[in-house]
Amino acid sequence: MGERWQLRTSRGAIEARYVVVGAGYNNVPFIPAWPGRDAFGTTVLHSQNYRNGSEYKGKRVLVVGSGNTGAEIATDLVEHGAEVWWSFRTSPTILPRASLGIATQSFGIMLRPLPVKIVDHVVAGFGLVTVGNLSKFGVPRPTRGAYTGALRDHVLPILDVGLVTAIKSGQVRPVAAIASFDKSSVLLADDQRLQPDVVIACTGFRPALEPILGHLGVLDDQGVPLAHGPKDHAHAPGMFFLGYTNAISGNLREIALHARQLARLIATERKRTTVGATSN
Ligand SMILES: Cc1cc2nc3c(=O)[nH]c(=O)nc-3n(C[C@H](O)[C@H](O)[C@H](O)COP(=O)(O)OP(=O)(O)OC[C@H]3O[C@@H](n4cnc5c(N)ncnc54)[C@H](O)[C@@H]3O)c2cc1C
Repeated sequence: MGERWQLRTSRGAIEARYVVVGAGYNNVPFIPAWPGRDAFGTTVLHSQNYRNGSEYKGKRVLVVGSGNTGAEIATDLVEHGAEVWWSFRTSPTILPRASLGIATQSFGIMLRPLPVKIVDHVVAGFGLVTVGNLSKFGVPRPTRGAYTGALRDHVLPILDVGLVTAIKSGQVRPVAAIASFDKSSVLLADDQRLQPDVVIACTGFRPALEPILGHLGVLDDQGVPLAHGPKDHAHAPGMFFLGYTNAISGNLREIALHARQLARLIATERKRTTVGATSN
């Protein structure tokens, strides 16, 4: 960690031995480049702009995305009297938010140190016992393990706040992934055509670090930093990233742990280099 970083900021240049990047995993809303979307005459809203379901009473709404945001918005819409289709590409792992009074995230904290494949099996079994098999309601059993999904694809299991009941009662209708749009309808991957009054894209966010750091070789092909917490990347010694993992044990908890570890590491390193400099 000998060199110093030169940063160009909106308030002038800064020189620093250490840089901690915490600009947010959910920095910029992302909507896939669906063919024909520009010609589609109906609103496509990103979840970022959704407030609550009150304005959608009696409307036909297509919710897109099998993450927690899509699940919670679909449920909220049903509670406000909307007619909901739920479109997704990858069948999600769905777990109860809590069982026997214990928050599911607590299990995540306990399971986290175990090998990924074992956690995938344990979580799949837990989902089957608690939520059940939703295949006959149009949600196939997930083929991707929950922990694998978190580590590889940055996707967390859905923690159910009412979606499962809404699916079982037919108030949320699962449908295939979006293939394209034309002027008045949405064409799905199974050739079904829908004519919703609004599409709500719960398709996530991107860290959008490429313009700032893309030239350093520290991002993966999804633009997510390759190094996390108190470990820096060999290409960028002294540069650290906080908040860019999707932890099954909870992101806020993970960020707090990593932040403390990182602060200690930098303090120790500074002490070491200061002592080194004065004794030379
Ligand atoms: C809908 C939703 C529900 C969630 N629920 C939970 C939950 O129940 N439990 C949990 O643990 N986690 C949850 N999370 C995740 C959690 O909210 C995030 O992990 C956490 O807020 C991230 O904090 P952060 O400081 O890394 O990023 P942010 O809170 O996004 O803060 C990043 C900051 O950096 C600033 N910034 C961006 N670019 C630049 C730049 N170039 N220069 C300077 N500043 C910049 C931004 O303006 C922002 O102020 C949820 C996330 C979402 C979206």
